[in-house]
Amino acid sequence: MLYKTYHQHQLDDIDGFRRLPKAIKDSVKIASQVFPFKVSNYLVGELIDWDCIPDDPLFRLAFPLKEMLTQEDQATFTRLFESQATASELIAASNVIRRRLNPNPADQKSNVPVHRGRPLNGVQHKYSRTVLLFPSAGQTCHSHCSFCFRWSQFTGIKEEKFACDDTARFYEYLAENTGISDVLLTGGDPMVMSTARLEDLLEPLITKKEFGHIQNIRFGTKALSFWPYRFISDKDADSLLRLFERLTKAGKHVALMAHFNHPRELETAAVKTAIERIASTGAIIRTQGPVLAKINDDAAVWCELWRKQLTLGLVPYYMFMERDTGARDYFAVPIIRALDIYHSAVSGLSGLARTARGPVMATSPGKIEVLGIVEIGGQRYFSLRFIQARKKNWENRHFLAGYSTTARWIDELTPAFAEQHFFFADQLA
Ligand SMILES: *Cc1c(COP(=O)(O)O)cnc(C)c1O
Repeated sequence: MLYKTYHQHQLDDIDGFRRLPKAIKDSVKIASQVFPFKVSNYLVGELIDWDCIPDDPLFRLAFPLKEMLTQEDQATFTRLFESQATASELIAASNVIRRRLNPNPADQKSNVPVHRGRPLNGVQHKYSRTVLLFPSAGQTCHSHCSFCFRWSQFTGIKEEKFACDDTARFYEYLAENTGISDVLLTGGDPMVMSTARLEDLLEPLITKKEFGHIQNIRFGTKALSFWPYRFISDKDADSLLRLFERLTKAGKHVALMAHFNHPRELETAAVKTAIERIASTGAIIRTQGPVLAKINDDAAVWCELWRKQLTLGLVPYYMFMERDTGARDYFAVPIIRALDIYHSAVSGLSGLARTARGPVMATSPGKIEVLGIVEIGGQRYFSLRFIQARKKNWENRHFLAGYSTTARWIDELTPAFAEQHFFFADQLA
């Protein structure tokens, strides 16, 4: 039986890290002042190849490097370290930088619904059918990704944090909004919660008739990559699987929206066992993750990632563009590059593994899929469409943008032809 007890490492108690050149260690120490740093013993012991630092993609996944900051900000920290600044001076300097890094991309704060005159904190309801719930006990992860678009959840800046404590009001809202079919638990990672807490939270969906319209329960999670033992040997692993089973037996579709970035995350005995155990409950694992420079900006990597997922019974769902927040300049690739990776990767795969939509930008007006490049009258354009949209009548609309070799996001694209603004710009404003 596979067995491991969760342990969160500090930088200096990681053997592999202690052996690294001083320049790399200092680099991580500077960057982890600004970007959240947390690593599990599984990531450190089973995934990272400590002989290939700093290029190892699994190292880059969780160990921030100073190049993620501007030269000026790096210099600030070098100075503060040299003058033996206090912890509170370091935090103050970090927070100035963090506020500059667009901590809430895509206007997330404007997605908070108002229920009986008061905002439902820790809930986002942007697309009609799906509500996002940020349970307060699930607002961390087993490890933190250096590129995470939710990084500001973990920085300790209170006003940036989404967290729901008031599940009674959340359920009132669900009962009154029968157009909602999906509840997506997110964070952080709801799989850091104890099974007892998850049971308390989800029990009404199993037992109460008034939530019959909630058909799909999704868990946004990185636990299969960062702590697969959550589903194997944690003391409440078996009861978690029983909870999934009770939900599926109650007629709910249970979807683990699993975040994967690299095929190596699918190679250990632990992840394979965890996947088998989850599958035995009737839950379906769908996968998603962004294209990231220096981690997976390579068609062969995506091809292998999706091929392995298919073999293990996982369903590729979304390939994302890195969002416009945090260390985006370090990780983002141009749209044209992501598109090429997508097309090259799927061309090597069975149709069964071509189920991911991408590249997708999760923007303020909606989820925009980049379909490809079209040529009209000798000019090239990006062909785009809304998969989901803030306004119902934008959904599934196709539109064109001028071709660009550098644009990384919708705000760096221009509308096609003589239009001044994209069709959604006025209503959005
Ligand atoms: C992606 C997303 C969803 C879910 O969209 P699906 O197309 O159903 O997967 C829901 N809410 C928000 C804010 C999202 O970004």
